[in-house]
Amino acid sequence: LPVLAVVGRPNVGKSTLVNRIIGRREAVVEDRPGVTRDRVTYEANWNGRRFKIVDTGGWEQDVLGIDASVAAQAEFAIEAADAVVLVVDATVGATDTDEAVVKLLRRAGKPVVLAANKVDGPSGEADAAALWNLGLGEPFPVSSLHGRGTGDLLDAIMEALPEAPAMTFGEAAAGPRRIALIGRPNVGKSSLLNKVAGSDRVVVDELAGTTRDPVDELIELGGITWKFIDTAGIRRRVHLTEGADYYASLRTAAALEKAEVAVILIDASETLAEQDTRIITMAVEAGRAVVIAYNKWDLLDEERRYYLEREIERDLVQVQWAPRVNVSARTGRHMEKLVPAIETALAGWETRVPTGRLNAFLGELVAAHPHPLRGGKQPRILFGTQAGTRPPRFVLFASGFLEAGYRRFIERRLREEFGFEGTPIQVSVRVRE
Ligand code: GDP
Repeated sequence: LPVLAVVGRPNVGKSTLVNRIIGRREAVVEDRPGVTRDRVTYEANWNGRRFKIVDTGGWEQDVLGIDASVAAQAEFAIEAADAVVLVVDATVGATDTDEAVVKLLRRAGKPVVLAANKVDGPSGEADAAALWNLGLGEPFPVSSLHGRGTGDLLDAIMEALPEAPAMTFGEAAAGPRRIALIGRPNVGKSSLLNKVAGSDRVVVDELAGTTRDPVDELIELGGITWKFIDTAGIRRRVHLTEGADYYASLRTAAALEKAEVAVILIDASETLAEQDTRIITMAVEAGRAVVIAYNKWDLLDEERRYYLEREIERDLVQVQWAPRVNVSARTGRHMEKLVPAIETALAGWETRVPTGRLNAFLGELVAAHPHPLRGGKQPRILFGTQAGTRPPRFVLFASGFLEAGYRRFIERRLREEFGFEGTPIQVSVRVRE
């Protein structure tokens, strides 16, 4: 069964929420107090779909202190859960600890549903809305105590949880692949969208007699149907004077949350802006497949082209691995290269390295390049396994702490060996006593 982890700071109401979700009659599936941590797993179901729910509430809070206990919850969620509910006390708001957990979870690429708890009445809705700034998308206002809002929360959880077999082996998710077309204002997002989609195609919602813009659109490219996320946000020219950047970045974060691949559009005719790199960082930290598209290529002269090369080397190191296409939404230049680049990135994102191959590679690598001696001892990588895909995640088990430089070296060699074009990869290290 798919596993849902409920994480959050002490006293935000995790256990109350778990009780609310499972109802009173559910039996405890696994209860192992005092082993290494209190792990309490229950079986639950919602609208006929069954799943396991893990209450991380009591984990060594007293022994470890709050931050460490919350970090342990996040670690569990990242390792073992298919989706996560982060419970935040809406009456308190987001704390530094909450933000730290969000960072960890985002990097892992696990789906997260945000529960804004203790919203006991309509007056608490504003408190819940303030939690948008955690960048996890829509906060679901709930009162675990009274049951208010838990139905909507569970619906969202069901969307986040995979269907029964928890591990999909690099398999495509059902339905069209989801693309977030992102970039700072005026780089040409809506021009590109119009170019690829055709500007006069039928907008379904208008036919239905509503004036609402469609949020996501199905667009056929290269013979394949893709889902473009939040096209309303791209097409609508929103003129906000205050906080425009802030809302744009919330929107980008929300689109990334729903997408599998991010096509990051950059204006090639202008010097790379800080906002460009910020958007790239967001996509990488969200764990999405990434394609870099340089637009307005028609405006480039020799000089700009020269500086662009330098910028790519200097400022795009964090996405060195991303396929790049140089396009012009105006002239249509290289539009046909977009789809192959997206497919390459998605393939990298879903790569699974068989354990045998991984360990053969690690064995040779470690023999040829041992970790530097530290205090007379030599930490060694004992074995490794790929913990997941989308994006690829690896866990290395080592006999001692591995230095950051060595970890980066291993990561680099993993890329050289197995490719991973267009995808971030995550490597975590476990020390075995
Ligand atoms: P958005 O804010 O990212 O959606 O950007 P828009 O699509 O509205 O484009 C901003 C401006 O750049 C408009 O004036 C477009 O006509 C122009 N533009 C977009 N793509 C290109 C391109 O490939 N070449 C040139 N020369 N101009 C472009």
